[in-house]
Amino acid sequence: MSEKKLHHVTLIPGDGSGPEVIAAAKRVVEATGVPIEWDEMEAGAAMIEKYGTPLPDRVLDSIRRTGVALKGPITTPVGTGFRSVNVALRKTFDLYANVRPAKTLPGLAGRFDNVDLVIVRENTEDLYAGIEHMVGEDAAESIKLITRKGCERIVRYAFEYAVREGRKKVTAVHKANIMKCTDGLFLDVARQIAKEYPQIVFDDSIVDAMCMRLVMHPEDYDVLVCPNLYGDIVSDLCAGLVGGLGLTPSANIGEAGAIFEPIHGSAPDIAGQHKINPTAAILSASLMLAHLGEAEAAANITRAVADVIAAGKTLTQDMGGNASTEEFADAVIAAL
Ligand code: NAD
Repeated sequence: MSEKKLHHVTLIPGDGSGPEVIAAAKRVVEATGVPIEWDEMEAGAAMIEKYGTPLPDRVLDSIRRTGVALKGPITTPVGTGFRSVNVALRKTFDLYANVRPAKTLPGLAGRFDNVDLVIVRENTEDLYAGIEHMVGEDAAESIKLITRKGCERIVRYAFEYAVREGRKKVTAVHKANIMKCTDGLFLDVARQIAKEYPQIVFDDSIVDAMCMRLVMHPEDYDVLVCPNLYGDIVSDLCAGLVGGLGLTPSANIGEAGAIFEPIHGSAPDIAGQHKINPTAAILSASLMLAHLGEAEAAANITRAVADVIAAGKTLTQDMGGNASTEEFADAVIAAL
């Protein structure tokens, strides 16, 4: 039998409830038998005292070496304080495509039983880049920068993803009726690139109308390609359609690397209570294994998570049960 390939992965547990979900995800990955050497790195507010920055160079060096990270959420102070470590990581490695699947898991009482959406969110530009300043004391200005290159690569990524994953439709989400230059450029590029993919249905929707349609008829949508800020908001909405933030994973993909993380935040309100749902982190680890070429282990994890949820015996509080984070992970490992 041939030796299994050893993978090198940077592990960033994050803060708040992050370390709880990442520990659970790491155990599940290890239970698949895929050999991984983890390079564990800390980032966030707690690092400021030691390294003078929430994102020490050693974290960046580790990701440069491994090219892949599994990451827990990291708290960002609101209004003042340091800039988001998450945004800094995406910018440093130019992780331009943020892929966020939202799929109904049978067994969970939700509003819908047929959601199967993927949000492909541009990850480096738009208002989310946070290019802003005060204008005197009583006004503030933020710059919404959208480039043709940024639009082209995210729209192309969405179509290539649709082809690769056997998806049928790509919808471009925008507000080009009002932001005719910035969102107009995004829509224009999307329309041009769509012509290269005649096998994929293409349409577009204004973001506000899209939100209403999503909560009424999510089954009408397949792949949504969005500029950064709309993608951020719409993906939390889609998480709500399938049972909440505890369930939705994400992949941040670029040419120089990939970082996998749950879409939820550090959930400080429940940190240390062992009740956070690790599903989003475990499914993020599954996306990571697929990226590493370990398709079988990745599929195994997704199936095991679905089995545990469908069985309904070991669910965390947000899913209507009373299992701890660790008990849920144990059940997934047993189902592998
Ligand atoms: P949050 O996602 O942390 O929490 C929102 C609510 O959902 C809370 O009540 C929380 O307990 C609950 N929740 C979240 N994930 C859950 C899970 N897996 N299981 C059960 N319940 C869950 O959002 P927030 O409170 O707005 O943000 C907290 C911090 O996280 C902020 O500092 C924010 O900037 C940061 N954040 C980080 C990332 C990231 O690292 N990628 C993403 C989003 C937010």
